[in-house]
Amino acid sequence: MSRFMSGRFASLESYVPGEQPKTMQYVKLNTNESPFAPSQGVLDAIAEQSGLLQLYSDPDATNLVRQAAQVFGVKESQILMTNGSDEILNFAFMAFGDGEHPFVFPSLSYGFYPVFAKVNSIPYREIPLIEDFSINPADYHHAGGNIVIANPNAPTGLTLSLKEIEGILQTNPDHVVVIDEAYVDFGGETAIPLVDKYENLIVTRTFSKSYSMAGARLGFGIANEALIADMNTIKFSTNPYNVNRMTMAAGTAALTENDYYMNNCRTIVAVREWTKQELAQMGFTMTDSKANFIFARHPKVDGETLYKKLKERGILVRHFSREDIKDYNRITVGTKQQMEAFLAQTKAILQEEQ
Ligand SMILES: *Cc1c(COP(=O)(O)O)cnc(C)c1O
Repeated sequence: MSRFMSGRFASLESYVPGEQPKTMQYVKLNTNESPFAPSQGVLDAIAEQSGLLQLYSDPDATNLVRQAAQVFGVKESQILMTNGSDEILNFAFMAFGDGEHPFVFPSLSYGFYPVFAKVNSIPYREIPLIEDFSINPADYHHAGGNIVIANPNAPTGLTLSLKEIEGILQTNPDHVVVIDEAYVDFGGETAIPLVDKYENLIVTRTFSKSYSMAGARLGFGIANEALIADMNTIKFSTNPYNVNRMTMAAGTAALTENDYYMNNCRTIVAVREWTKQELAQMGFTMTDSKANFIFARHPKVDGETLYKKLKERGILVRHFSREDIKDYNRITVGTKQQMEAFLAQTKAILQEEQ
């Protein structure tokens, strides 16, 4: 740290993203990207906008918001488009968190939540999961702060039902409840229909996973228009042109071809279930993931060894070294062919180790 760095950030530990290897070609199953390319309409939309880069992008993202309002069945005033969903999450922390309004979230979830709290000097409290890694919704009743929950959760893939989420909304009427639906298209139940009923609900979504656009950086929030207006105040106070021209057009095109993406999600779900069966036959145990990843451990090989040996063999998965999950690996669900390669290498490693 330089001597000029603000003391506010003296103990800030920033978020550590998964590896993006630059050298070797890996079967890349470590950051939950889609294995499928964007649709042709998205590529065409980007090409068209690239010739107009001398112009700022639309600060209201008018066309994209209109299209999203149609697809998700909400009003345009209930949507805010952001630079990835990381940005809408940060806007929610900034807009609604302070000393009197801490944030509350599960002790095992998206690793960015504590970082958003710290970078904004917002106190936070982590609630432990139950032994099987599931969230006990009652732990979030009258939580005494704003709440953020990923549903499905990461890195477990476990879900809460809409009924359980409603219970959390009803028992925290004076705090916002953020439901992070980054993985909802792979088997979760969306809370979007609850937005009209609960003025404290914010649903966040991303184009990074189910819409094959991780590299374009696009996400959004859906909430009642007063919450959206508050978060817009933050947006227009930090970066009015937060979504670039090409990404904005790409997002609009992707939503007009929604069927292509939802069909890809169905394929990924089928491959997930098949891969889980194969892993179970090899002796792995895993959570009932409803996301585009599998969270698995093997009784005979520790998580880090499997991660390292797979990497030597050209397969990249995600291993977290924290104590409570160090036996596990998070494996993104790729194409059937990629998963066949992963399974074959895993089988060979298990034979070596036993
Ligand atoms: C991937 C992910 C996000 C954010 O992704 P962006 O690429 O910033 O849209 C948010 N929450 C969870 C739980 C995620 O896994």
